Amino acid sequence: MLFCPKCGHILTLKDEKKKKLVCLACGYSTKEKKEVKLKEKVEKARKIEVVDQKMSTLPKITIDCPKCGHKEAYYWTMQTRAADEAETRFFECVKCGHRWREYK
Ligand SMILES: [Zn+2]
Ligand SMILES: [Zn+2]
Repeated sequence: MLFCPKCGHILTLKDEKKKKLVCLACGYSTKEKKEVKLKEKVEKARKIEVVDQKMSTLPKITIDCPKCGHKEAYYWTMQTRAADEAETRFFECVKCGHRWREYK
């Protein structure tokens, strides 16, 4: 049961379909109820894992993998310490992905 906010009289349902309530005492009427549709666009931002494709472009070298014994690995060089020192070679096993560096 709803009451008129103006005069406190009992509100009468006038329009069944629109659910409109009117006050017979003062003429107050409620506004048509609008269905609030919450359009939730749940667009989950797919976190596309950046696949490291750099490895496939690296040159291969014939070397024994210390982990699985595979004889082929990618290799790249990196300046690790002082500039005057020789570059350190790094390897990644083609088969198991094990990474290791060349110890001199
Ligand atoms: Zn009223
Ligand atoms: Zn391996």
